[in-house]
Amino acid sequence: MTRKVEILDVAARDGLQNEPGVVPTGVKVELIRRLIETGVRRLEVASFVNPKKVPQMADAEEVLARLPKRDDVVYVGLVLNRRGFERAVAAGCREIGMVVVASDTFNRRNQGVSTDESISEWLQIAREAHAAGVRAQVTIAAACGCPFEGEVPVDRVIAIAERVAEGNPHEIAFADTIGVGAPAQVTEIFTRARAALPGIPLRGHFHNTRNTGLANAYAALQAGASTLDASCGGIGGCPFAPAATGNIPTEDLVYMLHRSGMSTGVSLE
Ligand code: MG
Repeated sequence: MTRKVEILDVAARDGLQNEPGVVPTGVKVELIRRLIETGVRRLEVASFVNPKKVPQMADAEEVLARLPKRDDVVYVGLVLNRRGFERAVAAGCREIGMVVVASDTFNRRNQGVSTDESISEWLQIAREAHAAGVRAQVTIAAACGCPFEGEVPVDRVIAIAERVAEGNPHEIAFADTIGVGAPAQVTEIFTRARAALPGIPLRGHFHNTRNTGLANAYAALQAGASTLDASCGGIGGCPFAPAATGNIPTEDLVYMLHRSGMSTGVSLE
């Protein structure tokens, strides 16, 4: 049996959000359309955040409106609070991804409130999403380290995961938002998460700041992740995380997984 790994391409959000210029909506839509042609079936396509803070994502609604409507493709809208959630649902997102940052300082810089407040916000969003029939998942960011606080204890990451799990998420992701993680740390996080969160699918999100991204992705898979984020061309970063560079490239991840006897549904060609 070939192991199947799901890829969530985040180029249109994590990637383009970090471009210095604003990419025209039509170019974004064409990028997403071509990614779908390669076989990708789950894509993070927009972020429903304050357009004054992230002008690259100001056209989130228009992107959603112009994407091909396909039953076999899921478009994910990233949200940081209920206002963003309401915008994403109104725009037609069938899945939303909420972010809770594992370090308090980074959470305040990224979304203007404490980690605890974001957890409460997530639990409310999760209730509303379930009522509206929208799939809701949550990412715990800076899970391998914080640009402002430094080390983030795994105990804290797992404790946050247990609290967000009360919202009954479709999936919980652990993100090495700035690319400081190493495989042994990733193995510990995912192994402990798997034990602490029975029945909840796990996803990994890794950056290549120190070229450990693919090794971390492989470690996450070995420890029980079923989905990996990646960005075509390796574009991406984080506007609120100094020195964070690209996501793991989708094409390199696909290459590594196929050469390792796994399937992704994505055509490298
Ligand atoms: Mg990222």
